[in-house]
Parts: sequence; C-alpha cells; structure tokens
Amino acid sequence: MKISNYEIKQSKQVKLSDYSTKDTAGFKSKDEAKELLEQNIEKMIELQDKLYAQDKYSLLLIFQAMDAAGKDSTIKHVMSGLNPQGTQVYSFKQPSKEELDHGYLWRIQKVVPERGRIGIFNRSHYEEVLVVKVHDLLKSQPIPQDLIDKNIWQKRYEQISNFENYLYENGTIILKFFLHVSKDEQKERFLARIEDQSKNWKFSAADVEERKYWDDYQKAYEEAISATSRKNAPWYIIPADKKWFARLLVSEVIVETLKKLKLEYLKLSKERLADLQKSKEVLLSQD
Ligand code: ATP
Ligand code: MG
Repeated sequence: MKISNYEIKQSKQVKLSDYSTKDTAGFKSKDEAKELLEQNIEKMIELQDKLYAQDKYSLLLIFQAMDAAGKDSTIKHVMSGLNPQGTQVYSFKQPSKEELDHGYLWRIQKVVPERGRIGIFNRSHYEEVLVVKVHDLLKSQPIPQDLIDKNIWQKRYEQISNFENYLYENGTIILKFFLHVSKDEQKERFLARIEDQSKNWKFSAADVEERKYWDDYQKAYEEAISATSRKNAPWYIIPADKKWFARLLVSEVIVETLKKLKLEYLKLSKERLADLQKSKEVLLSQD
C-alpha cells in the first residue's frame, strides 16, 4: 500500500468522482488486513511514547467526511491502545453564540495539541468552507455583512492554509483525512441505523435531509481539498466504503509520517547518567 497514491499534491484540482470509494489496495478481506492494522497500532504506541518523551512536535489529525462515512469508528479503532494522557479528541459541532462572536479559527486555535501530544479533530475549521458554504450560513451570522463578497471562500482557503502553515512552522505536524464514501453506501448505512436496534441511537432524520445536498457537499469538498492540500498539511482521500480498509490506510499514513520525524528518546548527558547511577546506589542501599 503506497500512501503517496492517496495524498493530494499541492494545486491538484480534485474531482471526487475520479477517486474510488471502494479501493482496498489489493486486500481482499477484513481478516487479511487485520494483522497489518494491529502491527500499525503497535508501532503507533511506540512512536507516540517517543513523541511524548521528546516533547517537541505535536501531531494534528483532521477527519472530515459526509455523514456515516465512519469518522467516529475510524478514530476509535486507529487510536485504540494509545496513551490517553497524550491524546486529545475534539468534535466540532454547530458553533455556540460565544464562538460566533469570534473569528472561526478561535475555537480551533484554543485546542490545537500541545507539544508531545496527538490531537484529533472530528470535523474542524473546514466546516467553515463546507456546511457554512453549502447552506449560506454567513448571512445569518454576526460577521459584518459587507465583508462577505464573491472572494470570501478563496480568502478563507488562504486563511486556513496560512493558519496551518503557522502551526507547522511551530512544530505541529498536520494530516487531513477525507473519508470518501459513496452515496449508495451512505444510504445502506443509514438504513442499517434504522433497522438495527443497536444502531438506532446513531440515526438522525436531519442526516437524511442533509443527504439531499450531496452534490453541493461533494463540490465544496473538491474545492476545499484542491485549495488547501500542501506538503506541510496534506489531504489524503481515503476510500471508505470498506471501513476496515479506511482504518488500515489511515493507520499507515500516521505511522509513515511519525517515522519520518525520526523520533528518539533523549540521550542523557554524562552528568545525568552519573546522577542516575548515584540514585540507583542509594536505592539499593535502602531497605
Ligand atoms: P455523528 O457521526 O455522531 O453524527 P457528527 O460529527 O455528524 O457526528 P453531529 O452532532 O451529528 O456530529 O453534527 C454536528 C453538526 O455540526 C454537523 O452537521 C456539522 O456540519 C455541524 N457543524 C460543525 N461545525 C460547524 C460550523 N462551523 N458551522 C455550522 N455547523 C457546523
Ligand atoms: Mg451527525
């Protein structure tokens, strides 16, 4: 599995219909992928420990997708086993009144991961150029209306790229995942949420309403991904009709990225090593 096949290069004009939702990179079944996912999770645990010990970089994972594409379950599976003290998950919902009284990056900036940590965004600042754009929400928000001109989205893509670049240049590694699910598969998953009692709680009639805007969302995603994929903050389009493959691919991207950082435990100075030795002797001489 070559992760570069799924990475969107800067300035690439993405057309989502050109990207498969069903691709599994040759893996034939969930069972076949299981071992590799487990290995990746083991590697991630090891790398996270070094990231935490080194306390220099942070990792920000951004998940965006249509409803029922599997954001929650991908986050759950891929992060299983990680040290909870070093991991922070944030789900971004409709902004509160307080949040709307600030620029849209305010609530994001407040929760970007600190050094040594992994931050996971379930939705993100990208909602600002997705749901807000599709439903033309700015016109009912407190933002001065004369600021909303025909270049508003272009400006927001630039603001987002500048913001992500700023994070990168301060030590945050950013990976952005679009879980790409087909419209048919989404329908199947909604139906399963209605029919399977254990999944009823996940169903929301509003999601079915939102499905009517499918094409508008696909277009908004295409524009946002095309405008904001950068070497320092790349988008990955993850085929997500097979949940097990989406999980595997996401884990692979994370492991490959962390490996490139060449994370190592700090080497202690001679003095520190001598101090440790002294402490050991003291301990051994005690009861
Ligand atoms: P689930 O898979 O559990 O449904 P979810 O991420 O869809 O998870 P919900 O509480 O159902 O969570 O929905 C959150 C809603 O908040 C989404 O419809 C999303 O579009 C909306 N939202 C997020 N950010 C913004 C924003 N900046 N402006 C307007 N709406 C937003
Ligand atoms: Mg929802």
